[in-house]
Amino acid sequence: MPTTQQSPLKAVPSTSETVLITGGAGFLGSALCDHYINRGMRVICVDNLSTGRMQNIEHLMENDAFSFIKHDVSVPFDISEDIGFIFNMASPASPPKYQIDPIATFRTIVIGAENMLTLAHRKGARILEASTSEIYGDPEVSPQPETYRGSVNTMGPRSCYDEGKRAAETLFYDYNKNLGTDIRVARIFNTYGPRMDPEDGRVVSNFIVQALSGNDLTIYGDGSQTRSFCYVDDLIAGLVALMHTQGNIYSAVNLGNPGEYTVRALATMILEETQSASQITLKPLPVDDPKQRRPDIGLAWRLLHWEPKVPLREGLRLTIPYFALELEQNPAVAKVAV
Ligand code: NAD
Ligand code: UDP
Repeated sequence: MPTTQQSPLKAVPSTSETVLITGGAGFLGSALCDHYINRGMRVICVDNLSTGRMQNIEHLMENDAFSFIKHDVSVPFDISEDIGFIFNMASPASPPKYQIDPIATFRTIVIGAENMLTLAHRKGARILEASTSEIYGDPEVSPQPETYRGSVNTMGPRSCYDEGKRAAETLFYDYNKNLGTDIRVARIFNTYGPRMDPEDGRVVSNFIVQALSGNDLTIYGDGSQTRSFCYVDDLIAGLVALMHTQGNIYSAVNLGNPGEYTVRALATMILEETQSASQITLKPLPVDDPKQRRPDIGLAWRLLHWEPKVPLREGLRLTIPYFALELEQNPAVAKVAV
């Protein structure tokens, strides 16, 4: 792993700079768009709308500081404007979504990363890769520190995503070493919150939609597998801190909430918080579903003085009303997560 040089946090972005966000119409990307627009910066959102939604960025479309470009990142991309910062967020993130077309997923992640690294190099921009806890695969150590090399299958249904992100990280490190590109790599652990697509297929959105619509909550396996869930505002604060911290940070940095829950405990908490009478039904565990996942965030604390502030129950209380409104506006959604 490349060396990490520690440095104190200096986090105020210059208002004169432009931020390009790939995947900016998605759950996390659109929250980043809001963050920078709210700070008076120029934002260019590049997205092919494959899993993102225009409704996430509709409120920004009339803003002169915001541009939306519909584009597939696996196709080379250029733009005449100067760019200071690039967040490479483009990639489906939900297992059922990224497994629909694994070749397209791999191409998006790997070729998309190279296209954006090339752009960053041309522009002299700093670029952050949205990597993932999935690069640890089905981890044999817990919590997972950045030094853990992972236990990953090259041939499974999750490989297009896991191995794609591992290859993308490698490209980032090698662009830095050989070409001097200014990089950041965030390993993001399961994040949830408003703007998740109710039809996304991930566990938090599925369980809340099921609970609110009176359908059974679908636990895959026996529900003893664990995940650590981070509220979106905490994650965005971490990504922004990582992007704007001075110094050379050429190691990946875990960003996530270390609070670890079984999937069954999550289901119980969502039933309590929605006051739902829904039942639980067991479905087969998907192949290669990781048994445990919990971030070691010591490095993020040392480098960024960042740690999440929102515990799971509080984050669910902030998220449930969003899904209730989505269901009110589009009741057909309830049928999807059954
Ligand atoms: P999302 O599906 O809501 O957003 C992804 C966005 O990327 C969408 O707007 C989609 O249309 C766009 N996109 C996909 N393929 C593209 C392509 N070829 N060209 C251009 N745009 C494309 O997912 P998210 O949860 O917001 O995840 C954003 C990023 O963060 C992803 O890279 C994901 O791998 C990473 N990540 C997310 C989590 C999480 O828990 N949310 C965890 C780990 C990593
Ligand atoms: N899961 C579940 N029911 C669902 C969706 C997911 O039990 O309706 C489980 C899934 O098998 C995994 C965990 O919840 O063990 C988290 O799944 P998710 O797709 O949100 O993210 P992952 O961490 O697996 O990428």
